[in-house]
Amino acid sequence: MLSRRSALPNIVIVGGGAGGLELATRLGRTLGAKHLAHIVLVDGSATHIWKPLLHEVATGALNSGEDEVNYFAHGYRNGYEFEFGYMEELNQAQRTIRLQAVLGSDGEELSAARDIAYDWLVLAVGAESNDFGTPGVAEHAMFLNTPADAEALRHKVLELAFQCSNGVEPLRKMRMAIVGGGATGVELAAELNHTLRELHAYGARLQPERVEISVIEGSERILVAAPPSLSAYAEAQLAARQIKVLTNSRVAAVLEDGVELQNGSKVLSDITVWAAGVKAPGWLAQLDGLPVNTINQLKVDKWLHCQGGECIYAMGDCAEAPDGDSGSYLSATAQVAHQQARWLARELTLRINGRQGKPFVFKPQGMLVSLGKHKAVGSLASVVGPKRDYYVEGLSAKLIYSSLYRMHQAAVHGWVLVGFLYVGDKLRQAAQPSLKLH
Ligand SMILES: Cc1cc2nc3c(=O)[nH]c(=O)nc-3n(C[C@H](O)[C@H](O)[C@H](O)COP(=O)(O)OP(=O)(O)OC[C@H]3O[C@@H](n4cnc5c(N)ncnc54)[C@H](O)[C@@H]3O)c2cc1C
Repeated sequence: MLSRRSALPNIVIVGGGAGGLELATRLGRTLGAKHLAHIVLVDGSATHIWKPLLHEVATGALNSGEDEVNYFAHGYRNGYEFEFGYMEELNQAQRTIRLQAVLGSDGEELSAARDIAYDWLVLAVGAESNDFGTPGVAEHAMFLNTPADAEALRHKVLELAFQCSNGVEPLRKMRMAIVGGGATGVELAAELNHTLRELHAYGARLQPERVEISVIEGSERILVAAPPSLSAYAEAQLAARQIKVLTNSRVAAVLEDGVELQNGSKVLSDITVWAAGVKAPGWLAQLDGLPVNTINQLKVDKWLHCQGGECIYAMGDCAEAPDGDSGSYLSATAQVAHQQARWLARELTLRINGRQGKPFVFKPQGMLVSLGKHKAVGSLASVVGPKRDYYVEGLSAKLIYSSLYRMHQAAVHGWVLVGFLYVGDKLRQAAQPSLKLH
């Protein structure tokens, strides 16, 4: 068991994603740096990459190695300690969590399974893809939920592009299908289209008429969470890029060579990406005394406190958090995770001093969807005022979209470093090809 280093309150955060890393950084810089609490971040991966960037990693538009944050180094500089390993169990009586053994690339044990003690525990372990039990998804579809998924997809796209450009004559078409017309599916489709056009410009024989990208959506429109006019704008933008959008199209099965729809038709594809929904990891449903909903999300109250847990909180995609008194729940977005991290940093600071703040209230900041390199579309109605369906589109929307990542970087690194990183990115972009091709 990991012994406590001091009598300080021990705050353990499990999951260093969009929410958990920001929370660990905020608490580390305040309570940790001032020796008012011992802050521990646990993650099964040694590095962090902001998930909304994954479609850019998958299409080679972003080199994940350059935007990763190493938790060991970051923790050292920001007042928290990093523990490497996947959590698998909770013991509420002992106030410990158990981490799995860490295995090396050839299976040897690098670190034994171990327990970590907590006084305050925050679970922020995110979500994974939900195939809703659809036949063939596990065998034939690819996902875009982890950096490893994004890298695997990038390799597959580049290999297929090479084959379709250099294979046996007559050259075959390059076909890709994306199941799910939410923000992830739409952004991936636009980014893939941009990448293949760049490859064509570099000399690959991938003329637009030889590339087929389809977005398959079960609802009557894509971006169903956004206002209808925004969906219409996005659909027109995809159509202008020769991307097919199939709405009201429910998937019956994913096959080796395509997607079978419930209406009996088939969409041919060499690569099928499943981006149709998420669920929290299954092991959360086995945790000592903590109830979950039907998609394994931990049930929390308005203070993000887990039902059935003592001094245990959950946030981000793995939590079913009430949206105020509306009777509905918050959606799984980086925007929610970011606001919860900021709120929880204050709340935990109060709680270790025996006080409690006001409940968490989510303040929607609108929705933005990237449509490739220089375009995005979004609704800022919730910022500007609910009476108007207020949009941004084109380059200005893309600039606001990019600023979301810079805000995450600022929460993790501070604004000064973000300035340096921005200049570094621009210089790198000027010196290197715009796609990662290896
Ligand atoms: C391709 C893509 C695009 C997206 N685009 C947007 C967007 O434009 N805007 C938006 O608001 N949202 C977007 N989202 C959703 C957003 O990324 C998530 O809502 C957000 O990352 C959730 O944050 P989180 O902290 O809950 O979890 P995550 O960011 O998923 O982090 C979870 C962390 O927990 C770690 N972990 C998991 N299991 C364990 C374990 N057992 N033990 C220890 N550590 C563990 C993981 O390694 C990871 O570091 C996108 C998601 C994807 C996949």
